[in-house]
Amino acid sequence: MTTSLVPFLDLKVDKVVSVPPATTDAEKQRAQLISQGLKGLPSMGIHTVRDALYYFPRRYIDQSENSDLAVLEVDTEVTVLAEVLTLTQRRSRNGDKILTNVVLTDDNGSTLDATFFARNTWSARYLESMLKPGTRALFSGKVGRYQGRRQLAGPDYELLDVGTEYAEQSLAHADDLVAIYRGKGKATSQAIRKVIRELLSQLPDLSDFEPLDQQMRTKYRLLSLGQAIRQIHQPRERKEYRAARRRFRFEEALVLQTELARRRADAQTYRARAWPLRDDGILAAFDERLPFELTDSQRQVGDELATEIATETPMLRLVQGDVGAGKTVVAMRAMLQVVDGGGQAALLAPTEVLAAQHLRSVRALMGDLAAGGTLMAEANATKVTLLTGALGAKERKQALLDAASGQAGIVIGTHALLSDHVQFADLGLVVVDEQHRFGVEQRDVLRNRGELTPHTMVMTATPIPRTVAMTVFGDLAVSTLKQTPARRHPRATHVVPEGKEQWMARTWARLADEVKAGHRGFVVCNRISDTSTEEDTQTTSDEDAEPRILHTVEDTVARLSTLPALAGVRLAPLHGRMTPTEKDATMAAFSAGEIDVVVSTTVIEVGVDVPEATIMVVLDADRFGISQLHQLRGRVGRGADPGICLLVSPVAPETLAGQRLAALQASEDGFALAETDLKLRHEGDVLGGAQSGFASSLRLLRVIDDAELIEQARSEAQHIVADDPQLAQHRVLAAAIAEMLAGREEFIERS
Ligand code: ADP
Ligand code: MG
Repeated sequence: MTTSLVPFLDLKVDKVVSVPPATTDAEKQRAQLISQGLKGLPSMGIHTVRDALYYFPRRYIDQSENSDLAVLEVDTEVTVLAEVLTLTQRRSRNGDKILTNVVLTDDNGSTLDATFFARNTWSARYLESMLKPGTRALFSGKVGRYQGRRQLAGPDYELLDVGTEYAEQSLAHADDLVAIYRGKGKATSQAIRKVIRELLSQLPDLSDFEPLDQQMRTKYRLLSLGQAIRQIHQPRERKEYRAARRRFRFEEALVLQTELARRRADAQTYRARAWPLRDDGILAAFDERLPFELTDSQRQVGDELATEIATETPMLRLVQGDVGAGKTVVAMRAMLQVVDGGGQAALLAPTEVLAAQHLRSVRALMGDLAAGGTLMAEANATKVTLLTGALGAKERKQALLDAASGQAGIVIGTHALLSDHVQFADLGLVVVDEQHRFGVEQRDVLRNRGELTPHTMVMTATPIPRTVAMTVFGDLAVSTLKQTPARRHPRATHVVPEGKEQWMARTWARLADEVKAGHRGFVVCNRISDTSTEEDTQTTSDEDAEPRILHTVEDTVARLSTLPALAGVRLAPLHGRMTPTEKDATMAAFSAGEIDVVVSTTVIEVGVDVPEATIMVVLDADRFGISQLHQLRGRVGRGADPGICLLVSPVAPETLAGQRLAALQASEDGFALAETDLKLRHEGDVLGGAQSGFASSLRLLRVIDDAELIEQARSEAQHIVADDPQLAQHRVLAAAIAEMLAGREEFIERS
């Protein structure tokens, strides 16, 4: 037991662990590692004992067998257990270093090169003595390529056979696991393990730090904190760390869900203005002039929204519906209900292009009803104002004035609308189109403005698994538009094998035909130019994707411009490196028919609505995700004419990527496709930008796989908050929440 006044877990690591004196070589090595660990940990954000003990191993390596070296891929970080086959040394060309080349081998005879660079003869000799042929060691580093062979350059290594803690411990056990940590600089995996080992040797009884009470642990069969800490860092067999991980996942889920439950309870205390439904106002006039019948789904979800907006409890609702389900109309009707009461609504789009496009479609649907502020306005009319970062100073001033004076019933913009400079006379409703980048923080911004909280609705075309909604959005109610307005024409999707020249010729001829018929088209590429980094585009690469040169917007514009089949077709590029003004100008020209075909990246993925667009050609289609492709193709065939989507790809039909493309060709059901997609994708992709929210604090919890556990934690959290809203009887839990929130702020500041 520690006698310090500061609780053990809150002590600084270097107050508990010090570098031991050393005489033998083995002792010196250990001292050296501990010293490295102590120096390196702070740069990884690990300061206290708690930070260190909650820094969990990335994986575990079974000492009893060598790693398979054949499967290692270039450019990946690896840790392998392998045997030294040969070691050779020579001077570097310019003579200032001694190169040690080691060939490693596994149990199957596969090999991997490792090269070490020693600055002096002493270090070179040391290496030679450590890595004798036949020695088994852990090697960590990034797999590179040198003269056509895979190579680890200057890897970190750790001997396992002689004089190590593992050898001493229990070489006899078949199941001897070595914990591997994600290291950084001096704090290598090995150094971190040494420091944690020291901490564990001094570990007091941790029951005072236990956020999960005994009853809960029994109910869900969870390890105690102390047991779990030991088993996650020093498991004797696999089931020990599995049980420990499960306990920590539960703990994470509970901390997160308790905070969310607290916020839900808190939200009950917020008040919104109630906007009763009127049947003689702008909404009624709008319904009157709609050129189509609302679908049953649109009506039903519309009623849900109308009811909630008419109460003083702030609405917080996610409306999800496939591409083309008609979410915009639903949102507009909710906005007009607020305008009818003399209030204002804001519509937030994820990009400037989309904001500008929303303005066009809102004005088109409203007609004279959007002519407020002019002499000719009808009695019911309101003003629809665009407010984005791309506006000139004069327009911006006017737009700000429209918002502040209440002249504008509807203000459309990007998330810049949430900035402090934008004042509204009476903001009653905020609509967020496409949830991707809309996390808990932005919502808090809205909640904290002024006395009354606006009602909020978020629209998305990507179905969100319930657990993600719970984890990332916490307290969002969900409505689903199950129907899509009957399409006048089906939209066809075809996979085009890129290797077949005739098919490609046919593809471009088809594009030309559509343009000749007075229609418009898109050509979508993965990249902007050859120098594009991955961040410029959103691609999903597959394990089985071969490295290959991808089509770029720049190349494609150049190539298609010289293609005889496309002579006379007016092409223009559209991508994220253009300025907002350039993008808007291009989209406006495309809408107006002054441009026939835009060659773009996925900037057109969401929401772009040009009814005359009938054809889309996606190049390197296998590099996009299923949901993304479904969103993309939703851009064509929205008007009076049938649409066609051609997915061009060199991949073979029997590969995983080929099968995904085939699935798209076979199904139009975006929700079903998206669920398939979710299963194939990594969690990070699912959470997307939302990861900057609470999810960034998750260490072990997997929002999709741990659904059941999250549900359990949520129900426990609800009870806790109901019985003890201030968490006075749950101080460890309260402290863990504070810790999580602090970590989240740190994350937000860094990003
Ligand atoms: P999304 O849900 O993808 O945002 P939009 O709101 O952009 O879909 O609607 C897609 C198109 O369908 C728009 O052109 C819109 O005017 C039209 N639309 C919406 N509702 C209906 C309906 N009930 N019947 C026919 N067309 C509709
Ligand atoms: Mg939309």
